Amino acid sequence: MKDFSDFFGINGFLEHELSSFEYRESQQQMAELIFQSLEKNSNAIVEAGTGTGKTMAYLIPAIVHAKENDEKIAISTETKALQRQLVEKDLPLVQNIFHKYLGVEFKYSIALGSSNYPCRRRFDHFVKKGEYEKSDMEYIEKIISLFKSRKIFTSHEADAPFRIWAEICRDSEMCEQQRCFLSYNCPFMAAKREWMQSDVLVINHYLFFSNIASGKTFLPMTETVIFDEAHSLESVAIGQLGFSIDYEMLVSLLQRFHQKKGRGAIYVIEDEDFRDKAIAFVDKISREANKFFEKLRNDFGEKEITRRIKSEVPTGYDLLKTLEDFVDLLDECKEQSGEDFKIVFEPARLRITAYKNSLHAFLHQTLEEYVYWIEKNESGLLGNIFLNARPVKVDRAFINDVYPFYKSSVFVSATLSVKDDFSFFKESIGFNDGLEKIFPSPFDYSRQMIMFLSGQLPEPDDSEYTDVTAKYCEEMIKITEGNCLILFTSYSTLKNIKSLLAKRIDNLIFSQDEMTASKALALYLANPGSVLMGTHSFWQGIDLPGDLLRCVIITRLPFSVPDTPVMEARVEMCKNSGHNPFVHIQIPEAVLKMRQGVGRLIRSAADIGIVAILDSRIKTKQYGSIFEKSLPNCVKVSTIGELKGKYREILLKS
Ligand code: SF4
Repeated sequence: MKDFSDFFGINGFLEHELSSFEYRESQQQMAELIFQSLEKNSNAIVEAGTGTGKTMAYLIPAIVHAKENDEKIAISTETKALQRQLVEKDLPLVQNIFHKYLGVEFKYSIALGSSNYPCRRRFDHFVKKGEYEKSDMEYIEKIISLFKSRKIFTSHEADAPFRIWAEICRDSEMCEQQRCFLSYNCPFMAAKREWMQSDVLVINHYLFFSNIASGKTFLPMTETVIFDEAHSLESVAIGQLGFSIDYEMLVSLLQRFHQKKGRGAIYVIEDEDFRDKAIAFVDKISREANKFFEKLRNDFGEKEITRRIKSEVPTGYDLLKTLEDFVDLLDECKEQSGEDFKIVFEPARLRITAYKNSLHAFLHQTLEEYVYWIEKNESGLLGNIFLNARPVKVDRAFINDVYPFYKSSVFVSATLSVKDDFSFFKESIGFNDGLEKIFPSPFDYSRQMIMFLSGQLPEPDDSEYTDVTAKYCEEMIKITEGNCLILFTSYSTLKNIKSLLAKRIDNLIFSQDEMTASKALALYLANPGSVLMGTHSFWQGIDLPGDLLRCVIITRLPFSVPDTPVMEARVEMCKNSGHNPFVHIQIPEAVLKMRQGVGRLIRSAADIGIVAILDSRIKTKQYGSIFEKSLPNCVKVSTIGELKGKYREILLKS
């Protein structure tokens, strides 16, 4: 087995280049395992506990392997922010190490979704038409100077309002790529050339699956794909491999074809007869759409938000037929000279074709193992109605569209196992064969973390639950003098507990029910000793090292309830295959989410603090042991008195 001690060992390359480096045996072992899986062309699942240094532990062996074998790697992570961290911080460090100590050079680049890039052709068209406000000039001038720089830029650098960016961003349906006469000075084409020349391509999970959904035409192929933050893959894949269509989308599509004063895609075609027919179709589609969506809206109960559709929809066929006839008419149009045909007509034609195809799939339910539902959004136009379809499971997508196309697919995250077992994750991604390994966190939890668990608290459906939970939160906040994160599974419990707590403590409270998550977090950071309250995004999305976080309170075990159509369909499918969905889906999902919540507390070897799980079911129910056995091996207490004593002890020792 290849020895990676030159990189990860004491006095190794990383120690020389990284002032914060600490030797971790597990980091080197993880690198060796990743290298082994790539050498064997094998897949791998690796859980690397917080503090392992997983990013270096997969980047370095993957690049060594790629350079030795003249191969390319894709690294997929969850968010654009994490992509930027890789290309701005981690990869420059690795590049410097390879150059300085090995004399080896490699290239890397970042790939974002199509609409993040500007289109030179659409921009010129937009400016020429002059359909913008005087106050937009500052953005337009900035974008002109970015184009002049001939550098690759994206919406991030342009920083223009969405309404402008939507008019000038790349439109995959009109872009002719190499055949485009402006491709020589196109940031998107320059980015694509850079992707092709890179040894390491940094993408995100959304882009990975939208590339699959669009027939794998967007991204270059690589021999290896490494999914970091792999715990979020299933939910991203479900979102990207489905579709949603609605009334407003159709209205704005029709406006692309025909607006007042002879504007719109129809007028690109110089044929009076065609225009008359097309205008008649636009009017008819508009009428049919009104009838169809109005009927769906009226069928909805006043308080109804979503409705599962389990058989063919009995209405909507007049709209579908009119759309089909309109698309046939558009398909017959011959290409016209001039920019308008490519920039205005073709994208509109392809979009309405896609809309028609989605409506057909929805009405006839043609996609296998998909769940279909109608959803009402009260804030939209006339209570907008959405028609949705999502795959119930995505294991087939991995089996058919991922594993056969890569020599190695590697899945990495800090939370993939339940009671040291990967079965739940493996089933979700159809993983049948490959290496599997858990590298526990190197942190000394027995010294750094105290966990409060009690079987004496009222259960969540008990009438005293809210009041008692608020009292325990108050105790924790007083013990740690604030800097607490309180995690909830619902806004209603959050609001109830917040209103009780606000009367009992002097600490400032910043809560996700009153402001965005990023604003609540910024205010929490600006006010030491305060309390941060949040629901879903705070369970896994924040990193508060050191004294920024002294206590994490989990108010309730995070079971998902089967009230969303996708979850309901998964539960049904599980039952139909003879399994118990509570055991096979809800418990493992909740364990992973709880582990992510608990993982917010200890982010470095110097951190100390309290985790309190205020749901007595972890002690009183049989399944509670699955949760408890998945928690770090730390000091556990069950009374406030014990907690105060132990917290004092770890404070003194720290
Ligand atoms: S190549 Fe595509 S993105 Fe670039 S200018 Fe042409 S149409 Fe626009």
